[in-house]
Amino acid sequence: MKELAIEDKQKFLQENYPFEDPPNLTDKRRCIHCDTVFYVGDFKVFKDNTGNELICCPKAPDCNGTVIDWFRLL
Ligand SMILES: [Zn+2]
Repeated sequence: MKELAIEDKQKFLQENYPFEDPPNLTDKRRCIHCDTVFYVGDFKVFKDNTGNELICCPKAPDCNGTVIDWFRLL
């Protein structure tokens, strides 16, 4: 997988977030794969072999968590 540099991360989220209501870059989430708490704006984007652009955990590629593995903090 190849990491992509994203210029406008808020716009990228708006266009690629898989659920309703994309979060703000300043929101915090917890990755359930590596148990890291991070700011949404620190997400990384990787392109897989089929050309899909995946919104990934900031710890990627060490962590294989993606946007579907992010949980809101209580
Ligand atoms: Zn993670």
